Amino acid sequence: MRIKDRVKKTILGQTKRMKLKIDLHVHTNHSDAITSVGEVVEAARLRHLDGIAITDHGTTSAFAQAQKLAPDLIVIQGMEVESREGHILVLGVKEAPPKDLEATEVAKYARQKGGVIIIAHPNMPFISVPKDIIGRIKPDAIETCNAKTPFFWHYKKKNIELAEGLSLPQTGGSDSHSPQTVGDMYTIVEADSRNTEAVLEAIRAGRTQPAGKTSSFKEKIRVDVRMALMRLHITRKDKTKDKEE
Ligand SMILES: [Zn+2]
Ligand SMILES: [Zn+2]
Repeated sequence: MRIKDRVKKTILGQTKRMKLKIDLHVHTNHSDAITSVGEVVEAARLRHLDGIAITDHGTTSAFAQAQKLAPDLIVIQGMEVESREGHILVLGVKEAPPKDLEATEVAKYARQKGGVIIIAHPNMPFISVPKDIIGRIKPDAIETCNAKTPFFWHYKKKNIELAEGLSLPQTGGSDSHSPQTVGDMYTIVEADSRNTEAVLEAIRAGRTQPAGKTSSFKEKIRVDVRMALMRLHITRKDKTKDKEE
């Protein structure tokens, strides 16, 4: 174990925790981002992050490469699960759950596997888990600050009200889909060490605080246009397939 990884004790024997800067919501080209795994790692270093959670949509396939490329960073295996009622970040789990589950079933799956559950970008129309279901799931945290969200300050305020109303801890993430936005928002995690399990434990214990800034308007537009074109392309491909069948 490296010296800086060791838990430092004060003379009173109390644990002095580390404040780690970790972007808990990052996509790669293993799902719908343009960023390669190498570019994510490079960007995380440039932004002086301590770590990243790779949270591609429904897959953890980028994790192994990220971990290999970044022995200097904390790399958390995770995914963004698209449940029937909205998006959920699941961290510390090796495999994606079956597709098209209800949010409560995703949470059950994550708990069984010992994962951490964070509600992604709440309050957004169509893609967010509603408040009553969040209450039932009892997630470990709510992502109150998502750098990709349009009208950032409006949603940030609403999300903080939601988290405080449910007495849930808060996290921040870039939801990055391009190299330029990795680490725009991140979470300060107060962990006992740089060990991944210690970081997940700190999130479970609510020792988290969102920090950073919203992504630039130009980057948001660029990513939204690209994603809309991708969706159009997929829909066209599906229609052609239907005709052929
Ligand atoms: Zn999402
Ligand atoms: Zn996302």
